Amino acid sequence: MSLIKSSKGNDRLLLDGFRYRRERTVWRCVKDKCKGRARSDGNTFKMYQDRVCQASDPDEIEKALFNYEIRTKAAECHASPRLIIHEARFKLSSDAAITNPQYNASQRVIQRIRRDENIPSEPKTFADIVIVLNFQITITNEKFILYDNNDDNRRLLIFASKEQLGFLNQCESWHCDGTFAVAPKMFEQMYSVHGSIRGKSLPLEIHLKKEFLENDVSRRTMKNLAALSFIPPQNVIEEFVRIKENASDVLDGK
Ligand SMILES: [Zn+2]
Repeated sequence: MSLIKSSKGNDRLLLDGFRYRRERTVWRCVKDKCKGRARSDGNTFKMYQDRVCQASDPDEIEKALFNYEIRTKAAECHASPRLIIHEARFKLSSDAAITNPQYNASQRVIQRIRRDENIPSEPKTFADIVIVLNFQITITNEKFILYDNNDDNRRLLIFASKEQLGFLNQCESWHCDGTFAVAPKMFEQMYSVHGSIRGKSLPLEIHLKKEFLENDVSRRTMKNLAALSFIPPQNVIEEFVRIKENASDVLDGK
């Protein structure tokens, strides 16, 4: 027996292979025209003996639990969509796994929930920019905001973690550039500093060239990555994640 929420936030009872929705004090089978009903006597739930559903559908129960887990974790934890989906899939029986939603569909569910709940509305003035704690740290809980002049007329923000500064410190050369196209509204430009570690970039480049020429999937991935420069800034992260999910493992160095 499980009590969960539907995608619209309504109560659902999963009991003995059937799904019920709440109708005041009675639980009614979610299937149209089914007479199945259940009730609770405080702690335990029971089907009405004279109102039993016809055939149970265990796959559907698993699917409901799967979706509930994904939605709950998307809202309550910081784990990556890949990890959340992987963990939820791991619990599915092989029968349910076959009819389970596609990876991309689950991923979109997670992105939609996180967008709704965590992303503040777009600021209109510099004074509106209040960086919530969530965005001040990296996913490994390192402080990410390095400097904020809090000037409502000429706002300047600098982001970098200690680890990233340490990395730059070790680099023989830095590559710096300002870009105007992806800067958020109100800001004049986004200036970034990149470092490369000697000896690593060259073999990687040769390897990527070979991949581009010989592997269709890798070639498409690289073209898609290049195309990221032409899409609206607010879609970049979502699209990047999608490209990465569809990329061949070779590009991850596997
Ligand atoms: Zn029923």
